[in-house]
Amino acid sequence: MAVKDRIIVAGAGPVGMFAALKLGTAGFDVLVLEANDDLALDLRASTFHPPTLDMLDVYGVTQELIDDGLIAPKWQFRDRLTNKIAEFDLGILSDLTNNPYRLQCEQHKMTRIVKGHLDKLDNVEVKFGAKVVSGDQTEDDVTVVAEIDGENVSFDGAFVVAADGANSTLRISHGIGFEGITYPEMFIQASTPYEFRDDMPDLSPINYISDSDEWFVLLRVPKLWRALFPTREGEDEQYAISDEGIQKRMNGVIKRDVPYEIEHRTLYRVHQRVASDYRIGRICLAGDAAHLNNPLGGMGMNGGIHDAFNLCEKLEQIRDGADHSILDRYTRQRKPIAVEFVQAQAERNRQLLRERDPEVRMARFLELQETARDPEKAMPFLLRSSMIESLERSNAIE
Ligand SMILES: Cc1cc2nc3c(=O)[nH]c(=O)nc-3n(C[C@H](O)[C@H](O)[C@H](O)COP(=O)(O)OP(=O)(O)OC[C@H]3O[C@@H](n4cnc5c(N)ncnc54)[C@H](O)[C@@H]3O)c2cc1C
Repeated sequence: MAVKDRIIVAGAGPVGMFAALKLGTAGFDVLVLEANDDLALDLRASTFHPPTLDMLDVYGVTQELIDDGLIAPKWQFRDRLTNKIAEFDLGILSDLTNNPYRLQCEQHKMTRIVKGHLDKLDNVEVKFGAKVVSGDQTEDDVTVVAEIDGENVSFDGAFVVAADGANSTLRISHGIGFEGITYPEMFIQASTPYEFRDDMPDLSPINYISDSDEWFVLLRVPKLWRALFPTREGEDEQYAISDEGIQKRMNGVIKRDVPYEIEHRTLYRVHQRVASDYRIGRICLAGDAAHLNNPLGGMGMNGGIHDAFNLCEKLEQIRDGADHSILDRYTRQRKPIAVEFVQAQAERNRQLLRERDPEVRMARFLELQETARDPEKAMPFLLRSSMIESLERSNAIE
């Protein structure tokens, strides 16, 4: 394949790596440009939803994730004060997916597994230490400039998948708007090998715990529990992430006489934003470059992989003769989903967790329990929260 026909992928996060795998397997020459010297090792996404696992299955990635992860057939909302539990069983989705569960596995494992597959493809190259600084295009092709060892190097290709994350250089340099909000509170994440199930034996691997004073989330990955908390109004950021601040929060989950062993900690700002357009000619945004949402519901990376799947299918259709205008359909299909499904669901979860009025909290919780118990109500709820409905809606948009 001539260089002019290759696809350049900016960013080797989960979205860029999946795009490279899908395109490379379809026979495209692919060049991935990654700013860092290696794949990221940060503790961010850890939940894979059923349709994402179905997409990854095609390439043999799902089984490797399962081998390295933890299957969660059920997940819970819990009310701290009353100890009420609403437990959702994904087993009822078994006619609709090959993977009727959430898979708990860190995103840095996924990118490494995919890299292993890419290494076997002669037509895919992943270049580390290559920071994309600009992208220009003509009617016929696109040129991406990357800074490598202090020098600017140009790469030509047919299209660019811009999966260069929240601060996407390609989005910003093309002046594409990124409207939305930044939450006033920050999120604190801490992980510990302490086994919370010794104190709460009925915990599921994924638990959203509402509390009138401070909500939190407990997520299991194979060797750790990850806890997520919001900061309080006016709380000092340094204190929130300090040993004392973290221990105080963890002791709010389960009080202990000895300090928690903390393996990772992060404090980060949370945004709900979406790009005004996902396409500028031959450059298409995907993943966090195109949309950001709060992590309550575990949908950012999953939605990004769904973007990459959709976009790469269209690039394959263009290679097979379709008009470039089908890329406008990519924006039409994926942008509304980011707002109406992903952001909406993430915000609903946040509101549910942080509700302070005891009557409203109780009414909402009883409704959740009823939904979880009644398969007729649980089905639409799980179709939505597992991202099956959003994918069907997206595919139905012309
Ligand atoms: C605490 C937390 C928990 C989360 N949990 C979940 C979850 O359970 N499920 C879920 O679906 N989502 C979750 N998310 C969101 C998820 O982590 C992101 O949506 C996901 O990482 C997006 O993937 P991406 O590939 O689009 O971007 P990124 O993962 O940000 O990758 C972008 C890549 O591009 C590279 N890059 C950046 N700029 C350049 C440049 N100029 N040139 C070349 N390379 C560049 C970066 O180095 C990086 O490797 C969570 C997020 C957080 C913060």
